[in-house]
Amino acid sequence: MTTLNEITRQLTSTLDQEPLLHNILDNAVTILNCEAGTLFLIDDQTGDLVFRVTVGPVAGNLLGQRLPPGIGVVGRAVQTRQPVIENEAQDSNSRFIETDKQTGFVSRSLLAVPMQIKDRVLGVIEVINRRDGLPFVIDDQNILTAFAGQAAVAIENARLIALTDQELAARVEELQVMGRIVRELNASLEVDRAMRITLEWAMRQSNAEAGLIGMLEEDRIRLMAQDGYEDIFTDPSDGHLPLDMPTIKSAIESGQPSQVSLIAAGEKGILPTAHTQTIIPIRREADVIGLLLLESMSDSQENLAFLNRLSDNAAIAIYNAQLYDLVQQANNAKSEFVSFVAHELKNPMTSIKGYTELLAAGSVGGINEMQTNFLQTIRSNVERMSVLVSDLNDNAKIEANTLRLDFKPVDVPHVLDQALKSTKRQMDDKKQTVDMVVAKELPNIWADDVRVGQVLTNLVSNAHKYTPEGGKIVVGAEATTNQWDSEGAKQVVHLWVKDNGIGISIEDQVKIFQKFFRSEDSKAREAPGTGLGLNITKSLVEMQGGRIWFESEYRQGTTFHFTIPVAEG
Ligand code: ADP
Repeated sequence: MTTLNEITRQLTSTLDQEPLLHNILDNAVTILNCEAGTLFLIDDQTGDLVFRVTVGPVAGNLLGQRLPPGIGVVGRAVQTRQPVIENEAQDSNSRFIETDKQTGFVSRSLLAVPMQIKDRVLGVIEVINRRDGLPFVIDDQNILTAFAGQAAVAIENARLIALTDQELAARVEELQVMGRIVRELNASLEVDRAMRITLEWAMRQSNAEAGLIGMLEEDRIRLMAQDGYEDIFTDPSDGHLPLDMPTIKSAIESGQPSQVSLIAAGEKGILPTAHTQTIIPIRREADVIGLLLLESMSDSQENLAFLNRLSDNAAIAIYNAQLYDLVQQANNAKSEFVSFVAHELKNPMTSIKGYTELLAAGSVGGINEMQTNFLQTIRSNVERMSVLVSDLNDNAKIEANTLRLDFKPVDVPHVLDQALKSTKRQMDDKKQTVDMVVAKELPNIWADDVRVGQVLTNLVSNAHKYTPEGGKIVVGAEATTNQWDSEGAKQVVHLWVKDNGIGISIEDQVKIFQKFFRSEDSKAREAPGTGLGLNITKSLVEMQGGRIWFESEYRQGTTFHFTIPVAEG
């Protein structure tokens, strides 16, 4: 009994099925001091007894073979649920006779004991021939029965562990799949794409031949994505489903996933040949906002729990994409409105500018010094206004992603000239000097000349605004390999605008490219501005494949740098 306990303790700690079965049989054969043994497990589906482990000279090729229910000593042990002793094996109609002939092993006596848990028989342990040559007796039978009970528990435990292991593996796999889906969904802010991805995955993970995603409208369902219904919804833009299909109606009302056997229910699917229809409502909080519908020609079960989780994730992605759509629409509307206003303001501003120039030039009669000064103020304010209007216009377009650039090879010295010309008068007014440090034979850049001009003008004009009277500004350009952006163009033209002005404090440096940022620095506040210029400038540089950065020392000066890719060839 002590040996038995020791062995069972060992058995119950083995959770791998294969080694456990070997262990059980080895021990059974050893305890009863036998020559051979076999362990059978019952195949749950067919009731066959399967040879799982053999010990002793019994032919190894028995492994994996099956005995139909009820056959032989072991079959009897299963049927009667009682141990069976057969001490005259050779005389009986034993199935071993053939095997014995092949192996030369003679089965004299057999003891077969069922392994059972409650009323379920898992298999049979059979031991053959006591080594002392004596027949099996009741004691042997009792020992093996006690042992078989423990063995059954150990086998059942190992089975359960394997099951939970499989379930866990399936769950982990599902989570991995879900992770991929969610990543794909999050990467897309387009509603249509989010729906297509969801449907694609739902079809891939199910047995469905056809599927669709529809969004609930007042009295119908608008088809958003479909697969396998090409013949039915011939015009995808006009695909609608009525809400009165009984299966759809009840799924929407209950808000719960459902799987209906159409044949049994006497219903027709959308696919006329469908056997099974699965409907997963797509919910946004308590409301059903749409549905995922799958149809299959077979009667197989779908993994409703998985599909349900998929639809929950899809609902979030769809909702986000819808929100993004709304924001995008609002942005576009704003951009359109600002463009319209900017356009309408341009004409009056041009007119004011033109007449001011005429008056200032004395074309309509002499003017005194005070009048000249006033005209100068009008002119510079109109200029400010036109910069402001066009900055607002650019900003709206950048936000709505509708700013179009016209790329071509651009001559850098030419754009530099233009930018300096347009700011020359302001420079002269403040007695500031501008030096050019431009390398000879600069290659063309691949850019939009107007937008590069705008970048330069903005930087030069900032240098002018934030540098006191008499200050010094240097503008430079050189061609060089790109050391600032490993993923960008290999060759770039690097341009810079350096001033010896008021500089930018450390606190302000991190905010300088933010939209509408204006420094609290009283010296900076002396110059007018909106805080839009550098934000737009940065976008323009980056849209042309370049980088922008600066270095600055408070009250010493600032240098802005940017790069633009060289035009190839
Ligand atoms: P704005 O000039 O209209 O205020 P910007 O976006 O062009 O807007 O510049 C943002 C802020 O950056 C400015 O308000 C100023 O404080 C600071 N800044 C820009 N350029 C310089 C410069 N060259 N020197 C010192 N400060 C600067």
